[in-house]
Amino acid sequence: MFEGETPSGISDLDDDENVAERTIADKLFFTYVPVDVDGSTVAVFEMYQRYAVIQGDVSALLRTIAVAFGIGLVVLYVLLLPIASRASSALRRQNARLNELLAREQETVAELRDLDQKKSDFVAAASHELRTPLTAVLGYLQTMRLPEVSNDTRARDEFIKASEDQTRRLFRLITNLLSASHLEAGSRPTVLERIDLVQLFESVTPALPNGRERVRVDVPAGTAVVADRWRLEQVLTNVLDNALKYSPAGSPVEVDATIGADAASIHVRDLGIGVHPDQHEAIFERFHQVDQSSTRRHGGLGLGLHLARELSREAGGDISIESTPGAGSVFTITFPIAAPALDPAGVGPSNAGATS
Ligand code: ADP
Repeated sequence: MFEGETPSGISDLDDDENVAERTIADKLFFTYVPVDVDGSTVAVFEMYQRYAVIQGDVSALLRTIAVAFGIGLVVLYVLLLPIASRASSALRRQNARLNELLAREQETVAELRDLDQKKSDFVAAASHELRTPLTAVLGYLQTMRLPEVSNDTRARDEFIKASEDQTRRLFRLITNLLSASHLEAGSRPTVLERIDLVQLFESVTPALPNGRERVRVDVPAGTAVVADRWRLEQVLTNVLDNALKYSPAGSPVEVDATIGADAASIHVRDLGIGVHPDQHEAIFERFHQVDQSSTRRHGGLGLGLHLARELSREAGGDISIESTPGAGSVFTITFPIAAPALDPAGVGPSNAGATS
């Protein structure tokens, strides 16, 4: 019946068989010890002990266990706390870094979208700018085939001049596009040489629409500088082209120069539409045009002044503007004329800055 076991436990003496024991105590610790003979239980000893007597020991043991458990928890907490706090601050840092990376990623995506849009706008504007002079030249050539025009020398000359202007416009546009791509590919080597300023203006202005008639050069004959001719020509062409383009037909564009000991300045003054002061820096940015409407009067890609500034700076100089909206602008191009490191093919420093 007991299967070799000795059951024990605490009894609150509710069972009917415990009526006699209830007089001993409220609770008893019982132990049943079976007596086996030849493998079968022949008798059972029942032992009862007042539970109150061992309860003190049990409670003390439970307290000890509870205190040990509590101390264990505290030790565990103290040991784990720095590890947990380190892990949580590392997680916080990683989270902040991830947020930062995400924000940067979103910025890059927005920039790429913006660039893509600018590229599409640029391709559209460049195609339009390239097609306009070509369409005009084609129109002039077709008109000149008409007998009434081909027989009229004056009309023919006018058409030829207009065709030349449009072809030069195309040429300047392509030169600017090539210069812009050179800027991106890396700097063109600087070649310093003696430049007679009056001769320089004479070579640049006739290539511009009405340049010969409108540009007035106020520079003493023989004024010369040692500088990078190619860069100076590109800068001047763009600034003079703008001065002619953004001022009334027939109004003069004045050019003069100041030669210092180690730098020279060229001033290009027009009586045109002028530029508002809050645009004075922006006009030198790539593709920036003050009038960005589709109905703008003047052609262009917004590259001229950007190139002028980049090329001036490459040569160690700069370009700036002073302007009164509605009254005109003065662009000042400064450039060094005694470069410290001269190209071997260039002219020696003793000639730099010469004014005659
Ligand atoms: P664009 O091809 O449009 O002429 P630029 O880079 O040469 O490009 O010039 C940038 C902008 O600066 C022009 O679109 C124009 O709004 C303004 N600008 C340049 N030169 C002048 C000027 N002389 N007078 C008035 N506005 C000018």
